Amino acid sequence: MEEKTKGQQLKETLFYEQKDAFNGLTDEIREEAMKFCVPYAVFLDRAKTEREAVAEGIKMAEARGFVPYTFGQPVKAGDKFYFNNRGKSLHVFVIGSEPLENGIRISAAHVDSPRIDLKQHPVFEDTGVCYLKTHYYGGIKKWQWVTIPLALHGTVCKADGTTVDICIGEDESDPIFYITDILPHLGREQSAKPMGTAIDGESLNIVVGAAPFADEKADQKYKLNFLSALYEKYGITERDLMSAEISAVPAMKARDIGLDRTLMGAYGHDDRVCAYPMLLAALEEENPVHTIYAIFADKEETGSDGPTGMQGSLMTDIFEDLANTMGANIHTVRANSKCLSADVNAAYDPKFAGQFEAKNASYINQGVVITKFTGSGGKGGTNDASAEFVGYIHNLLSDNGVLFQTGELGRVDAGGGGTVAKYISAHNIDTIDIGVPVLSMHAPYEVVSKYDVYETYRCVKVFNNAKN
Ligand code: MN
Ligand code: MN
Repeated sequence: MEEKTKGQQLKETLFYEQKDAFNGLTDEIREEAMKFCVPYAVFLDRAKTEREAVAEGIKMAEARGFVPYTFGQPVKAGDKFYFNNRGKSLHVFVIGSEPLENGIRISAAHVDSPRIDLKQHPVFEDTGVCYLKTHYYGGIKKWQWVTIPLALHGTVCKADGTTVDICIGEDESDPIFYITDILPHLGREQSAKPMGTAIDGESLNIVVGAAPFADEKADQKYKLNFLSALYEKYGITERDLMSAEISAVPAMKARDIGLDRTLMGAYGHDDRVCAYPMLLAALEEENPVHTIYAIFADKEETGSDGPTGMQGSLMTDIFEDLANTMGANIHTVRANSKCLSADVNAAYDPKFAGQFEAKNASYINQGVVITKFTGSGGKGGTNDASAEFVGYIHNLLSDNGVLFQTGELGRVDAGGGGTVAKYISAHNIDTIDIGVPVLSMHAPYEVVSKYDVYETYRCVKVFNNAKN
């Protein structure tokens, strides 16, 4: 072989060469990634709302010996707890063997996804069809949600004080629900509109029936027929719907995409694709050195507000509680804690090259994405992780053979977005954004690479178990 020139040698030393799953991971790891995503697909199909994700998360935690945590209770190293926050967010933690003042290893991901929620007075009929009025949740392109199969998921608190969970449209034998669109032949006026205004928010009415109640004298027979069926199945009346939380989500199951089965399509990868590996990484800890803490957060898609969002105080309440019980100074605990804010990143899509900046975008199959800052318009509204903390994470992943890439969300001034990172870092906790690159983010059916999912899992494992 020819000897390398000085310039070639220098280039090898000085340039950074990004690897991908095919030249940067062993056959064995790629095989493990494929296997890892089999139960992930099951989780996706079972947990389409934050409530369902929390319920699944609790099942997974209990199966591994985790027990509910009560404020003020005694704790010792090795103890495994979960805290169910109103059925909509879940905090899971394992007490480490070292002093709490050395800091907690936190990972946080959200389990709410964009969808279409029912209004509080949803049911009406028009021209022989019964519909439900909706108000969409999170950032959606409204035109993507018409003419696709929808399922209804939710929780209804009845007048008698009992609560009933509903889920219609997921079983193969269930009916599904649907939002109509105008045919192209008559769509000239709609087609001339900018896409963002082509479908009006108030027109996202869901078709739920088209048969009248069989009674000549009854009024509003189509609405009555729907409510009668709902009452028969769940014992719910129109009054109960006024307080209900019911969401329409795509009635589609997670599936492999492409002949090589590297890619996986599903509703709501954002952000269960980070939540699932992150939870699993925490649940697998037995007698860790650091105290390990994982969060399934709610309300990220609408701004992290409310008691179940990351702007709520639960995480710091529990930290304070643990500090009091274990005789640690809460300020020291927080100052020495570290957090992975795990959320998806926009994978580079050559079809939309103009919206990305290729040198700083994230790519499918190049591993977990490390994002120093998010935000928009001159880094507005971001936790900007310090050079020290980013360097720490990069070294940790390199040293442990985890495939990672950096990724900024799109071109400067193309738009942008935020995560829960800024709410956690506000508590004097070093926080960095990590996550899985996603194609068609926020669409009813999103796409990820199985290798990136697995590298995100390995990233959280390595972080939880790092010595320093
Ligand atoms: Mn997200
Ligand atoms: Mn999102």
